[in-house]
Amino acid sequence: MKTPEEYVESLRRLNPIVYMKGKLVGSVPDEPLLKPGINAISLTYEYGLKPEYRDIMHATSHISGREVSRLLHINTNTDDLLKKLEMTRLLCRTAGCAQRYLTHDALNALYEVTHRTDEEINAEYHQRLLDYLQYLQNEDLTTSVAMTDAKGNRSKRPHEQQDPDLYLRIVERKRDGIVVRGNKAIVTGAPYTHEIIVLPTRSMTEDDKDYAVSFAVPIDADGVEMVSRQAGRPDDSSAELSSRYGQATALILFDDVFVPWERVFLAGEWQFAGALTESFAIHHRLSCIGARAGLGDMLIGASACMAECNGLDPKNVGHIRDKISELIKFVESFYACGVTSSVFGKETPAGNFRPDPVYANIGKLLQGLHIYDMFKISHEVSGGILVTSPYPEDMEVPDVKEKLSRYLKGREDIPADHRLKIARLLEDITASYQGGWYSMISIHGGGSPEAGRIEIMRKYDLEERKSLVERITGIKKEE
Ligand SMILES: Cc1cc2nc3c(=O)[nH]c(=O)nc-3n(C[C@H](O)[C@H](O)[C@H](O)COP(=O)(O)OP(=O)(O)OC[C@H]3O[C@@H](n4cnc5c(N)ncnc54)[C@H](O)[C@@H]3O)c2cc1C
Repeated sequence: MKTPEEYVESLRRLNPIVYMKGKLVGSVPDEPLLKPGINAISLTYEYGLKPEYRDIMHATSHISGREVSRLLHINTNTDDLLKKLEMTRLLCRTAGCAQRYLTHDALNALYEVTHRTDEEINAEYHQRLLDYLQYLQNEDLTTSVAMTDAKGNRSKRPHEQQDPDLYLRIVERKRDGIVVRGNKAIVTGAPYTHEIIVLPTRSMTEDDKDYAVSFAVPIDADGVEMVSRQAGRPDDSSAELSSRYGQATALILFDDVFVPWERVFLAGEWQFAGALTESFAIHHRLSCIGARAGLGDMLIGASACMAECNGLDPKNVGHIRDKISELIKFVESFYACGVTSSVFGKETPAGNFRPDPVYANIGKLLQGLHIYDMFKISHEVSGGILVTSPYPEDMEVPDVKEKLSRYLKGREDIPADHRLKIARLLEDITASYQGGWYSMISIHGGGSPEAGRIEIMRKYDLEERKSLVERITGIKKEE
């Protein structure tokens, strides 16, 4: 498996076209604005080498029998689902958002749906996926996952859009592959991954068949360009977490990109686009739960520390205790949905395991909707210092430092500097640009709340509950 250094070196062998703030990025691994994102992915490689995390970070490949990164593993039982959830929380409680679990989610969805496609229409997609999976596992690579298209007018299907390229589509079928054109609008981590896995963003009709496409390409494939945003807040000395760890997103443009057949996993079979979208969403919603539980761990810890710095014991001052227990309730209840979703996971006909969809969707919905309540609690508990603490540089000015240390102290035995560091961490993750980012990734990352509600209603056994009431009351449904 790769070391963090080998991961960064491997990025040097790629030459993606990445624009950021009006400039072409010369070298992704040397670009300061992307550094926090590269650090977050590096952490997944670093933890992979730690003996104490081996059980959680590694798995045995069911293809080769070798030990591989769990981030590239196909779930072979419910314990794998649970460990994926725990791994995501572990990584995200340090890195905020470790991004690489997207690869795991896409591979598991493709594993299930390529198998189904081959069974139903006698195609060769599953074997291609297995070959690709083995390549990723052998090289210990990271992929971004590009599902969300620009989508244009939301009330129209892909083929109804005025501009036919608003959803990524196949423009040519050749003997040796396909040519694709269009875009994927929001892709986490894309500039500093090795490959892009493309998935369809919704179910399709026969008229949309050219949009029912899934494949993988290297990030520097001919015709691929990205317009990226920076990862975290690399240039801000008061960004306690996000100057070290952050996440870039990119819009990816595909300008007549050739994809050889060996990397194509769906090409026009519109009946399977919805299944692929749905399967990815279920796996990814479990990841979202683990990731936000990791962020929740930081929020809970920092809010309790902040109260202590202010001289208020979080276990004994009534209203602080109430608020922090409420925060714990939010985090652990959506995490519990993730645990339940893993334990109740089911084997697919392809032989891999997928999380229980109802609990995965409820957990994702809870974390998305309650992120604002969670931030509110940390704001209320902390006081105004959360957004008004002096810059770290001001604490270095000899004359000022002494006065600031005196006046910004809370509890007598806790140095002002500690109080300010906690305040800056909370500002960073709840009230800065990065804080806004965390609310947005919580609410929309992995699908909008409405998408979750629709899935809950689709998968929940409402009929069984209705017949329960019929049994209890003796009311009979008319035939
Ligand atoms: C920080 C971040 C990182 C992300 N990373 C990735 C990534 O790595 N890969 C990836 O593929 N995606 C990624 N996403 C995209 C994410 O999956 C989408 O944001 C999400 O699915 C919502 O899609 P949208 O942003 O286009 O919003 P929209 O779909 O436009 O939703 C906006 C609103 O319109 C409503 N709406 C939309 N369509 C309809 C309709 N037909 N009828 C009625 N109401 C409708 C929605 O319910 C919602 O309320 C990321 C998003 C964020 C914020």
